[in-house]
Amino acid sequence: MTTTYDLAIVGTGSVGAAAGYYASQAGLNVLELDAHVPPHDAGSHHGQTRLIRHAYGEGDQYVPLVLESQRLWNELAINSGQPIFHQTGILTVAQPTTPFFTTLVHSAHEFQLPLETLTAPALQARYPNWHFSDQYQALFEPTGGYLESETAISAYLQLARHAGVRQEFNQPVTGFQRLANGTVEIRTTQGTYQARQVAITAGTWVKELLPDLPVQPVRKVFSWFHTTDQRLTEAAGFPGFTVELATGNTYYGFPGTDGTIKIGKHNGGQPIRNPHERTPFGTYEADDHEIDELLATHLTGTAGLDHGGACSYDLTPDENFIIDYLPGTDNIQLVTGLSGHGFKFASVLGQIVADRAAHQPEPFDLTPFRLQRFHH
Ligand SMILES: Cc1cc2nc3c(=O)[nH]c(=O)nc-3n(C[C@H](O)[C@H](O)[C@H](O)COP(=O)(O)OP(=O)(O)OC[C@H]3O[C@@H](n4cnc5c(N)ncnc54)[C@H](O)[C@@H]3O)c2cc1C
Repeated sequence: MTTTYDLAIVGTGSVGAAAGYYASQAGLNVLELDAHVPPHDAGSHHGQTRLIRHAYGEGDQYVPLVLESQRLWNELAINSGQPIFHQTGILTVAQPTTPFFTTLVHSAHEFQLPLETLTAPALQARYPNWHFSDQYQALFEPTGGYLESETAISAYLQLARHAGVRQEFNQPVTGFQRLANGTVEIRTTQGTYQARQVAITAGTWVKELLPDLPVQPVRKVFSWFHTTDQRLTEAAGFPGFTVELATGNTYYGFPGTDGTIKIGKHNGGQPIRNPHERTPFGTYEADDHEIDELLATHLTGTAGLDHGGACSYDLTPDENFIIDYLPGTDNIQLVTGLSGHGFKFASVLGQIVADRAAHQPEPFDLTPFRLQRFHH
């Protein structure tokens, strides 16, 4: 007789790996399916590290989620014995009138989060590698830092495996359908499975399964630069950062480790239609020059490009997440459109999927994340 799983997860990258683990902890019989063997570099979670900020320039609706996410990351670090979170603090530099800056300050007040304001000279006095004119200000959040993204996914998958979750990797899902009794039949390149509930957490390529979703895949690169100044290192207390320049360009980066510092540009990139178009770092001439503006004027202590990588964002029209049920269903969940800022939330989003699948009450207001908002 075919097993009918309580929950099948389509895509066990960042969110799916967390969802599978929390669902197993809720006592559900879980099937995890992935096109690759996570963690891997074909999705959105590779390149070792992801920033986590609590005060949130993208909107107050994210703060309760990120605070719970942080609690879950800390718990995962204890349960797995892995260094999931590095509390390096996060520096945000922008002109104080920009929406990102004012929203961030507002969210810190609203949720009583520690946040220190620094003028441009005070910033440079504390971190001599940063150089900004007086039109900029900095915000320092001591509780933020970065997550080891691939380590975290491995930890979730290993804990889930030990809890008895079935893992079928290197097995792309090609389609699914609801049967007359409400059960969902999922087809992969190697077989079919049945589940009472399904979570679609397929990241950038979700439209191969659900072509009508308002999600645009975008190719994004990040780069590692040689460091010549040990003040840029994590050991010396250099924090993670987000910098929004007056040109509108936004950069983010991590404290240096092992002689390099990783930096990326949040805006821009190339809209793409399929995995083949997400070509490796260096296939566009612009790849090598993405960070020039920041390094030429604002950050000293680096000495040339070491290497880079290509990743992808799944952008929604408003760059806010989609956390919902597939329209017309109450047993097919969707978590997608994380728009390049989702990793920090992966733990709590996984917990939400598990709570919904286990019919547990939902402690968060998720109405801002419903698909309905695109249909006005
Ligand atoms: C360059 C870059 C920098 C970033 N920086 C940050 C940051 O600093 N902080 C932050 O919070 N976020 C950041 N993000 C965003 C964050 O990494 C993503 O939002 C997050 O990892 C997405 O998680 P996901 O689970 O939706 O996708 P993924 O982790 O990509 O997982 C999706 C999974 O689904 C699988 N899959 C897809 N299609 C199928 C199918 N048909 N069948 C089976 N499996 C399938 C894939 O193989 C994959 O394993 C960054 C992203 C990039 C690219």
